[in-house]
Amino acid sequence: MTTNATVRIMSAEEITANAAGEPAFLLLPQRGTVFAGRAMRLRQLAQGHTLHDYLVLMASVALAQDQALLSFPSVPVPDTAALGQASRRGEPPLAACDWPRDPAWRNALHAIAQRLLPEAAGAVRIALQRILEGDTNFLEQQADCLLNGDMVDLDLACAPVVAAALQVYWTHMVLEVQRLYPPPIEAFGRIGDATVCPCCGSLPVASVTQAAGQTPGQRYLACSLCSSRWNMVRITCSHCKSTEGIAYQSLDLADDEAQPSQAQAEGSPSSRRATIQAETCERCGHYLKIMHCERDAALEPVADDIASLTLDLLVSQEGMQRHGVNLMLLFGDGTSHSGEP
Ligand SMILES: [Zn+2]
Ligand SMILES: [Zn+2]
Repeated sequence: MTTNATVRIMSAEEITANAAGEPAFLLLPQRGTVFAGRAMRLRQLAQGHTLHDYLVLMASVALAQDQALLSFPSVPVPDTAALGQASRRGEPPLAACDWPRDPAWRNALHAIAQRLLPEAAGAVRIALQRILEGDTNFLEQQADCLLNGDMVDLDLACAPVVAAALQVYWTHMVLEVQRLYPPPIEAFGRIGDATVCPCCGSLPVASVTQAAGQTPGQRYLACSLCSSRWNMVRITCSHCKSTEGIAYQSLDLADDEAQPSQAQAEGSPSSRRATIQAETCERCGHYLKIMHCERDAALEPVADDIASLTLDLLVSQEGMQRHGVNLMLLFGDGTSHSGEP
């Protein structure tokens, strides 16, 4: 493209490739189902789960997110010049770390907190009141901590609710950009760093394989912030992109005990039943979960990631660090949530 072109347009070859059934690079969320579907899955997973109360609380958060997204007001989004500039630089157009946030995200935060308050008790109620009474500086500082992976100054009790509002805001912006600049304009495309979201630059929460559609079995990384999914070929480390030294671990549910199965090939007989595996990389020591929607179409990356916390504990015992973050389940380990010190 020429330097004075303002926005990237798909080439004839790309349009032909898409029509030929090659996997789409990017899958965007659906406004009406992204959070409602998550809420439903969280409730389903909560039944008989050791994290029952937390999963039910997060289901209420997701329902409040659904309402906030449906009524989100119009906010500034990148124009064609900004989209073109991001494309030329190989950067995400809605970079979470330096996008100038519109105050509307705080209104969504208040609406979510107000919606949760009547049923909240104990520590949750105290955290919600801290949000509702918090001044702009406090809330913006908490947002900065979350979006920059600063766990040291993060208020962990408030974090899931603050993150919920930021997820709604970013999901809204991604959908709004796509509405304003539909194909063949390529508002979002490949960026320089394939390990983070091409729309907002955030880490993935997990990866999921496609159950159906044009290209079943394709693997997508699910953004922890804006709910977009981007394609990454399977058996590839999501942190260092190595294709060697990749192994898979899962909890062997068939034995009715949470026994880790040994490192195994992705399609080996012992791993075939597992719907969720940790894809570990020998080279860089990172892992990300892969959720097999072709084995269980109900899998939802944020919900199932929380519910499979035991797998994280087992893999981390072996010294593996997670590539990725679940903003609904953060731990105050005093480090960045990217897994880097
Ligand atoms: Zn994103
Ligand atoms: Zn790696």
